[in-house]
Amino acid sequence: MSRVAYVNGQYHPHGQATIHVEDRGFQFADGVYEVWSVFDGRMADFDGHMTRLHRSLDELQIRGLMSREALMRVLHETIRRNRVVEGLVYIQVTRGTARRDHPFPPEGTPPSVVVTARSLPLSKGNASAAKGVAVVTHPDLRWGRCDIKTVGLLPNVLAKQAAKEKGASEAWMVDDMGLVTEGSSTNAWIIDENGKLRTRDTQANILRGITRAAVMALIEAEGLELEERAFTVDEAKCAREAFYTSASGYVMPTVSIDGTTIGDGKPGPIATRLRTLYLEQARRDAI
Ligand code: PMP
Repeated sequence: MSRVAYVNGQYHPHGQATIHVEDRGFQFADGVYEVWSVFDGRMADFDGHMTRLHRSLDELQIRGLMSREALMRVLHETIRRNRVVEGLVYIQVTRGTARRDHPFPPEGTPPSVVVTARSLPLSKGNASAAKGVAVVTHPDLRWGRCDIKTVGLLPNVLAKQAAKEKGASEAWMVDDMGLVTEGSSTNAWIIDENGKLRTRDTQANILRGITRAAVMALIEAEGLELEERAFTVDEAKCAREAFYTSASGYVMPTVSIDGTTIGDGKPGPIATRLRTLYLEQARRDAI
């Protein structure tokens, strides 16, 4: 089936959709992005992702994006034109096209906006979740503003590739203190030796995951104990359970870290339950 991409006000066949060679996203990674998971053609955690998109844009002073209402229409239309029932919808917003020069282009230069959608059957992720996945650790080489969701993802790309080459699904990045920051495209969690859920706090240099926030609310509703406190790689290896969260992976049980088996090597009961609860809620509340 042919795919369609939205670029700066128009829908194009995916293979012919292009941006300018002097787009600042291409020249400088001067842009941000956002991703929603799609259930039954509707977006999960809509407000959380939309609010984070606007925060990322504000932090970088990228101005001139269409209104939230107009953008919601474009997102829905892109989902519809691509016939996505279960999958993902992406937006990239850059500081626009201008003669290559490091300072911002003149006031009023319109941002570039690209929206794409693709199918990703839930059954695929469910099959991985039923077995559990492997992660490897990798040094965190990123800049100091990982709270902004920029398209400058080269360290994340290198970390994920290292994971892939070792047969793992994700790379958990590790800071100079030996503490796990987050996954290359996910937030990292463990259930520690005392049975407490642990994930790094968001004062630190990590992305404030929207799935992370949704899962935190579920943890509270379930009456489980949670501590927003960083953990070491050794603590993770001794954990009862491990998992990661993201809009594309939801809650993904993790059964090995750098080849060390976690728990009994099977997806843990808490991670599995949180996945079920998150999927139920995301589907129910999608708009
Ligand atoms: N950390 C990083 C570095 C990411 O790229 C992502 C996915 N966008 C996440 C965490 C998870 O965030 P979310 O739950 O909002 O998808």
